[in-house]
Amino acid sequence: MQLNISNLTKQYANGVKALDDVSLQIGTGMFGLLGPNGAGKSTLMRTLATLQEADSGQVFLDDMDVLKNKDAVRRILGYLPQEFGVYPRVSAMVLLGHLATLKGYHHKKERKELVDYLLQKVNLFEHRKKSVSSYSGGMRQRFGIAQCLIGNPKLVIVDEPTAGLDPGERNRFYNILSEIGEETIVILSTHIVQDVRELCTNMAILNEGKVVYHGTTNDALALIQGKVYEKQVDKDQLKQLREDFNVISSKLVAGKPQVHILADSKPENGFSQAEGTLEDVYFSKLHQLV
Ligand code: ADP
Repeated sequence: MQLNISNLTKQYANGVKALDDVSLQIGTGMFGLLGPNGAGKSTLMRTLATLQEADSGQVFLDDMDVLKNKDAVRRILGYLPQEFGVYPRVSAMVLLGHLATLKGYHHKKERKELVDYLLQKVNLFEHRKKSVSSYSGGMRQRFGIAQCLIGNPKLVIVDEPTAGLDPGERNRFYNILSEIGEETIVILSTHIVQDVRELCTNMAILNEGKVVYHGTTNDALALIQGKVYEKQVDKDQLKQLREDFNVISSKLVAGKPQVHILADSKPENGFSQAEGTLEDVYFSKLHQLV
């Protein structure tokens, strides 16, 4: 199964071009869509989830025209939106059962089996009688995955699922996502590089509505292999460094800026070679250094 997105464009009424000629081919497995806030990720996810219209372009899931067959797409879609809104004060078990009814599980026994199975899968079975509105952020996201897996979707879209989760919750969430079947297309939209590094073999980087990288995570790393150097500097040296070098990023380490630069050979003056990470690729692409 393959999702083919061709030349998708969307401009909002205020003039913001959220998608600018986006083309991507996405096969089964976990695909990472990485980009800063405002890059257009949610617009793309909502368009694929048939919740909003594009201005132009096409999307095909194998030979199904996604933009024209909304009902057919919804039957095979699992969607975990960025904002779930307000949860009613009913137990996870009851809410999931209700959502399963809406998705066509009318037979009571079958529905109960499904609800129990999904709650076990996302490690919420022991909390099934608690109200979802009382859940922690991580538990809510796991509940979100359970609802999104009702009906065995072929296309699963999760939009910024780990924002706001603590490291333990994030790990639990990763483990659940990584267990979704290999026959499913899973698109993980995120601004968190680590999400993509840990879970995805294939990825794209979106910036200002444009695709600035599309390929494997390993090929992305190869772009900067052996070219990343680092140095800890004083804050007042930063400006000069930015003039002299291709600065990828600067972040505080123990209160002092740690600068990463991209260079073909080792610069003098105290730089040491760093292992290039996906985060270095990400910032290099956003700053158009590679
Ligand atoms: P991301 O999910 O990557 O943060 P979005 O798709 O939410 O990006 O937004 C892309 C751009 O479109 C941003 O500049 C955002 O402000 C703008 N935008 C999003 N939704 C709307 C809307 N309904 N009306 C006008 N502008 C919007």
